[in-house]
Amino acid sequence: MNDTIAAISTAQGVGAISIIRVSGSSAISIVNKVFTGKDLTNVASHTIHYGKIVDQNSPIDEVLVTVMRTPKTFTREDIVEINCHGGIAPTNKVLELILRNGARLAEAGEFTKRAFLNGRIDLTEAESIMDLISAKTEASRKVAIKGLTGHISHLIRNLRQEILELLASIEVNIDYPEYEDAVEMTNEKVKPAIKKIQDKLAHIIEESENGRILTSGIKTVIIGKPNVGKSSILNRLLDEEKAIVTAIEGTTRDTVEGNITIKGVALNLIDTAGIHETEDLVEKIGVNKSLRLIEEADLVILVLNQNEKLSAEDRQILKVCQDKKTIVVLNKSDLEKRIEEEEIPYTDIIHTNTLDESGIEPLKNKISELFHLEQLQNQDDSYLSNIRQISLAKEALSILNEAVIAIQQEVPVDMIEIDIKRAWEKLGEIIGETYSEELIDQLFSQFCLGK
Ligand code: GDP
Repeated sequence: MNDTIAAISTAQGVGAISIIRVSGSSAISIVNKVFTGKDLTNVASHTIHYGKIVDQNSPIDEVLVTVMRTPKTFTREDIVEINCHGGIAPTNKVLELILRNGARLAEAGEFTKRAFLNGRIDLTEAESIMDLISAKTEASRKVAIKGLTGHISHLIRNLRQEILELLASIEVNIDYPEYEDAVEMTNEKVKPAIKKIQDKLAHIIEESENGRILTSGIKTVIIGKPNVGKSSILNRLLDEEKAIVTAIEGTTRDTVEGNITIKGVALNLIDTAGIHETEDLVEKIGVNKSLRLIEEADLVILVLNQNEKLSAEDRQILKVCQDKKTIVVLNKSDLEKRIEEEEIPYTDIIHTNTLDESGIEPLKNKISELFHLEQLQNQDDSYLSNIRQISLAKEALSILNEAVIAIQQEVPVDMIEIDIKRAWEKLGEIIGETYSEELIDQLFSQFCLGK
């Protein structure tokens, strides 16, 4: 990490200005070699200087250079930022000069990685930076900025502190059993203390699942037999929101047919229609992609043709979705009703007619109601913001659950202590107190270049 890195930090393309960022112990001296106007090695920290970038006396661009000295910088190293004229040629030329004079091209996310490794930010804050950069909706921006200002870290650190205090009191008992003034930590005393921590952690996880919906949207699968109207419903949902669809394009990496937003939350729609149009749906359902899609979905929109009686196929589909948040849509409400509604074991049922669009608005309202979207928007909680953080919290919780079971089985308290310590370590992984090289490399490689 001793070398000096450089990258273009702004988007590649034509714009008024581009920023080239240089970080490392030689950042100032390297830029100084190609800058005329002032001796940058002598200027005060956090100052801006006007001058030219030159390549052996030949001017390359007119720039403003910001000099920030360690340690009060993003990476905690010396940082120089060159504001040059936007445009591909000048920007690349300036970068090339910097590289030729001793800097190395930064890897994706390397500035943020240095900020983490140098203790400037923890892992949740680093992830929040990434979330903030990729935030496509106002809701996801709000979650990300909370993470960036240390709310998540705070939450986890407080919980770890509580666990540490519990561990300390158990240790005192084990190491100094003769200590009279230390409260004896029996299993009966440890249990409520663990319970308290469990409750807090469970609450954080629950809130975070909601928070994840704010950041990544509601993964929605539309399922049903061929010809019931799945594609029509998808199109009706999309039709109404075309402007927003383009605005949030690319919200997710899944094979999504389209995105809409409902009350500021993205709905990522996956139409399963194309997957098995010609084959027997039920036969395939156990083996093909649909089952996995349903399993991973936050919401299933199950479409039936209300003009037909429930078939064996329909019943099977209804069964497959029973553990999922599901809205049953009875489509083709303009036609005669042949379906027996009381045979559908779901409470959330919407009647639609895609020809005149009736029922589409109630469908959206139902989605909003099911996910408490209105409350979610106004909630002011901090969340763990991604799957990595949430699954570590879940692992910690299940370790604590194991500890409680062990207590019930009267396992000695020093064995229980091992579980509690494991939970403490798991929570540490969330903020990056303990981490593996591979995790760090993998995580930061998802960043943009120059960040
Ligand atoms: P999918 O195979 O489930 O995706 O179904 P489609 O959306 O392709 O629709 C199948 C057929 O049903 C098409 O001919 C549609 O025009 C028709 N359809 C869709 N929705 C309605 C509706 O609400 N009422 C009526 N009468 N026909 C519909």
